[in-house]
Amino acid sequence: MAHSVNSTQKRILRLKVYARDGGRCRLCLQPVAFDAMTLDHVIPKSSGGGFDMGNIRAAHWECNTERGSAATKQSPARLALVGKG
Ligand SMILES: [Zn+2]
Repeated sequence: MAHSVNSTQKRILRLKVYARDGGRCRLCLQPVAFDAMTLDHVIPKSSGGGFDMGNIRAAHWECNTERGSAATKQSPARLALVGKG
C-alpha cells in the first residue's frame, strides 16, 4: 500500500513543482498558469512512480493528456525535449 497524500501536501507540492520548473510546462517548455498546471508523473503511478518532487513535473493539461494517450504524433515540442534530461 502506498502512503496516501492529503490535499494540503498536494497543494504544497504543486507550489514547489511550479517554482522549481519556473512556471513552465516541462513537456512543451511553454509558460503555464499555476491554476492550469497539472502534475505529470514521470514514472506512472501504475508503474510504481511516487507522488514526490523527484517524480512529478509541471505540465499543461493538454500536454499531460496527449502524452498519456496515443504517442503517434511527433510534435516539435516533443522532439525539443530530447537530450534535455
Ligand atoms: Zn505544455
